[in-house]
Amino acid sequence: MINRRRFIEQCALGGAALMALSNDSVSAKTMVQELAGAKATPVMPVLFLGHGTPMNAIELNTFSAGWKRITESIPTPTAILCVSAHWETSGTKVTAMQTPPTIHDFGGFPQELFDTQYPAPGSPELAAEIAQHTPDDQEAQNMKHHVELDHAWGLDHGAWSVLNQMYPLANIPTLQLSLDTTAKPLTHLEIARQLAFLRSKGVLVIGSGNIAHNLRTMRPGVDPFDWNVEFDNIVTPLIQENRVTELAEYHKLGAAAQLAIPTNEHYLPMLYAAALRTKTDDIQFFNDQLILGSMSMKSFMIF
Ligand code: ZN
Repeated sequence: MINRRRFIEQCALGGAALMALSNDSVSAKTMVQELAGAKATPVMPVLFLGHGTPMNAIELNTFSAGWKRITESIPTPTAILCVSAHWETSGTKVTAMQTPPTIHDFGGFPQELFDTQYPAPGSPELAAEIAQHTPDDQEAQNMKHHVELDHAWGLDHGAWSVLNQMYPLANIPTLQLSLDTTAKPLTHLEIARQLAFLRSKGVLVIGSGNIAHNLRTMRPGVDPFDWNVEFDNIVTPLIQENRVTELAEYHKLGAAAQLAIPTNEHYLPMLYAAALRTKTDDIQFFNDQLILGSMSMKSFMIF
């Protein structure tokens, strides 16, 4: 005879299985079958968010509405790790402070934006776990990329402009991961894959950038430039079909790619999200607009 209480304790049961156990007619075999299909810990989705202008942090518009809808559709994360376009370092770093400061890393915007604070706590424990998962000893370097603890950065607008809309209570521990300027795009894929364990710990990994981001040619109120449309048509099926190596080798994607990615800091966070997609994951695009002539707000959820 199976001891039901121990059975429940030994298995991380979902609600459906608990309901099944309350029915005396359910056999132990049925219980096991149902449990086999239930995930003990939900695997968190992964997001890539086109963040656009910092004003999206405080404006209610189509993009911030899209972020809010996504938040409502996913489990509440235990923590958030944001790979922001706006933190570039030599080597990869993760913020490890207890209280990361809000960084207002922009100019020429209204005072209201500078007055906005995002006082989410950090998590030195999770930062240490990420660093331990990416060790710096010589042997491991052949396999893994080291992530260094950082106590000097905080949350830049790549992170807080989206999180201020998604989690306005700022009560979820939030960390940032930097972009290593010495790493090749294919290496960024490897760094990203080292973060896969976070999904089963309830951590929401967010890449925050813009797939097309050409500041020099940006113009308000104009239609998307031809090259922006062309690049969107090239990059969308690659994302849809999870062809991450081709995404990383964007320099081979033609003249439109060169115009869309004059520098790669806004593109790379997309690679981090795409790299975390497994064979069983699905993908959903949202905020799928090309704006200001030369920017893409295309965002996606892997789930
Ligand atoms: Zn940006």
